[in-house]
Amino acid sequence: MTAVATAHLIDPHGGVLVDRTGERPEGVESLERLSLTSREVSDLDMLACGALSPLEGFMGPADYERVLEEMRLLDGLPWALPVCLAVGGAPKGDRVALADEAGAVLAVLDVEEVFGYDKEREAERCFRTTDAEHPGVARLYQQHPLYLAGRVTVFERVEPLFPELAMDPAETRAEFARRGWRRVVGFQTRNPIHRAHEYLTKGALETVDGLLIHPLVGDTKADDVPAATRVECYRVLLENYYPADRVVISAFPAAMRYAGPREAIWHAICRKNYGCSHFIVGRDHAGVGTYYGTYDAQLVFDEFEGHELDIEPMFFEHAFWCRVCGQMATPKTCPHGGDDHVFLSGTKVRELLAAGELPPVEFSRPEVAAVLIEAYLQT
Ligand SMILES: [Zn+2]
Repeated sequence: MTAVATAHLIDPHGGVLVDRTGERPEGVESLERLSLTSREVSDLDMLACGALSPLEGFMGPADYERVLEEMRLLDGLPWALPVCLAVGGAPKGDRVALADEAGAVLAVLDVEEVFGYDKEREAERCFRTTDAEHPGVARLYQQHPLYLAGRVTVFERVEPLFPELAMDPAETRAEFARRGWRRVVGFQTRNPIHRAHEYLTKGALETVDGLLIHPLVGDTKADDVPAATRVECYRVLLENYYPADRVVISAFPAAMRYAGPREAIWHAICRKNYGCSHFIVGRDHAGVGTYYGTYDAQLVFDEFEGHELDIEPMFFEHAFWCRVCGQMATPKTCPHGGDDHVFLSGTKVRELLAAGELPPVEFSRPEVAAVLIEAYLQT
């Protein structure tokens, strides 16, 4: 696949697609072994395949500081969130083995530095709150007290949750090239796709060559719809309502941080590495609760010059079915009032599904609703 020329696609962030996969080095068994959290394992796998290009390992203090203060790496390249490995103490040797929570050794890390960090400061900078009720902050507060920096070499890739949807950046790039796409819009989601988001993705697709539906399948909050159910929703939606030759669906292996604006930038940079020239940013992207303003995740893009990110953000309003317009619309395109719009709260939708009732077709495709009802009935 990689033989296909991909030169006409957007460059990876920093110019080169990183590959930190490699042979298992000699003597791994005798190395000190660190156990990674599932979030850190997600990061490790993304480092391995270049999804986090130009990073080649877990961040050192200079990059970390500048990311916190200025949303840039030490060399000035935009970067919005720390990618760090928390440890309880300094390792003894200059190389350590990295294992998942089950004890499987996945990689080695060549130790560059161990440094302390201020959890409250990181929370304030990255999440705009120090509230331990925020899921990202809560996870941060539970971490070990030091960060271990160094380049990684990954010799055992994580078993993908959805093997049929697993595509590394080199693979999505090759697939886009094979299809002759140049302009590709990426869509991040951690929810089932209802009519509103179908409308956004199709609106975006109208202006480019192809659409990458890139659902996040790493860790999410316990009350988010489970990834397996979502994947089934995407499958029936794509099968029935999207042209196969214009859409690629693949899983985004990241864990959610719920960092709102900063995560929107981070998500966009990662999708650039996957070959997307455009990226959809809706209202309250990567938000949780009421921690972020509705448009914060769109406004944050103004903190960079367009050429710095290269990938083009596409900002969207909340969409709905308007009975008067007789079509999907947003406040940007529909002059009618709320009474004319089909709006269902998340709670209302859950009530309908739990009762085995289909939400109106103006809200959700019946095939998608059927999958969700099935999932509700099983829990
Ligand atoms: Zn209208």
